[in-house]
Amino acid sequence: MGIEEKLPSGFMLSTVEAVAGWVRKSSMFPATFGLACCAIEMMATGAGRYDLARFGMEVFRASPRQADLMIVAGRVSQKMAPVLRQVYDQMPNPKWVISMGVCASSGGMFNNYAIVQGVDHIVPVDIYLPGCPPRPEMLMDAILKLHEKVQHMPLGVNREEAARAAEEAALKA
Ligand code: SF4
Repeated sequence: MGIEEKLPSGFMLSTVEAVAGWVRKSSMFPATFGLACCAIEMMATGAGRYDLARFGMEVFRASPRQADLMIVAGRVSQKMAPVLRQVYDQMPNPKWVISMGVCASSGGMFNNYAIVQGVDHIVPVDIYLPGCPPRPEMLMDAILKLHEKVQHMPLGVNREEAARAAEEAALKA
């Protein structure tokens, strides 16, 4: 019996996916991007005390073209919304978004005409992080949970298309 017959089917594919997932999660580059007070905690997370470098991601990139993670740290004003979307569009695929804090996730205390009532109106969100502001430990926990998602993300899947399909299926149900 040849070696190919002894191996369970899909062995090679799942191994490549696992390696790709590990590489992706171990080398995430967040975009340099802060919107309000939550950004102070995000900056603290990137500093020496919390040592984000342990997870392969201490380098915040000044160019969105070199970043694959957007941390939306703070409330999103209506004026900022198109800029935020442009930064997101300039990031290469695959890319991910963490909505940090209650303001980014739902508008929070700013329930008014000037603030977007949840950044998921502008970009798809992978992780919603509660708190006002979330502590660096909470942001690190969100990042590790995102790493889990990234590790198990199949290759060749367009995340936005998959999210849209899931949304349409939920609307039909
Ligand atoms: Fe500021 Fe709190 Fe809103 Fe974060 S959640 S932007 S800390 S008010």
